[in-house]
Amino acid sequence: MPSDINILPFTLPGNVSVKRPLIVAGPCSAETEKQVLDTAGALKSMGVDVFRAGVWKPRTRPGDFEGRGLEALAWLKRVKEETGMLITTEVATESHVREAIRNEVDILWIGTRTTASPFAVETIANALEGVDIPVMVKNPIHPELSMWRGAIERFVKHGVTNIAAVHRGFSIYSKNRFRYPPQWEIPLELKKQLPGITIIHDPSHISGNRKLIYRLIKKASRLHFDGIMIEVHPKPDVAWTDPRQQITPEAFNELINKKPFRSFC
Ligand code: PEP
Ligand code: MN
Repeated sequence: MPSDINILPFTLPGNVSVKRPLIVAGPCSAETEKQVLDTAGALKSMGVDVFRAGVWKPRTRPGDFEGRGLEALAWLKRVKEETGMLITTEVATESHVREAIRNEVDILWIGTRTTASPFAVETIANALEGVDIPVMVKNPIHPELSMWRGAIERFVKHGVTNIAAVHRGFSIYSKNRFRYPPQWEIPLELKKQLPGITIIHDPSHISGNRKLIYRLIKKASRLHFDGIMIEVHPKPDVAWTDPRQQITPEAFNELINKKPFRSFC
């Protein structure tokens, strides 16, 4: 079904157009100030456009590390001031939105579990009404295209029109070499239904395994995706969240200098 909404090109703050591929990189979670600043210091000269780090972490079970919250927003602000990279974090509630904006976060992202909840998306979209900030919407955790598209439409209807979609894979209840299989046909169909939508590929969450990241990037590059979001940590094996899929800044640098990456888009 064609959409009645008009998707505009995704732009960075200050109306800066996106050079392709857009590169978003940084740790899964902001753990300590040193870990955040060390990662950002290493990434700043590697062509990263946007530094990512989760400060509120949606965890499957209570009691797991749930993010450093407000104090970590101050670390992100330091990253922005000291490196010039834009900063992004996940928001899932109205108060997250308020705090992120107050701390000058440049771009917000909506996590996969939030996209799957129309009430949560509605609340966030409402809180963003009249605010000029780009939003990246991850696909819902289950393979339902209409829910992904619906979340994007919900933002647009609230006047939040600077939107990109993030392809982070889909949950299935069977064994697979990918943690969240990519089901490429879904982002491709999204692109068909919402012509002009910017799609950022997230091989970290799809693979759940750093060894599979390169082949995913090759495919995303062949399919003309518009950018990449990738998790980078100075010591991936001891990361507090998603340790198996994060890569070191050195490995990241090697990856983005490989041919498929250079020929992206
Ligand atoms: C993340 O980006 O670290 C994250 C929690 O993502 P997702 O919502 O895709 O699981
Ligand atoms: Mn993660």
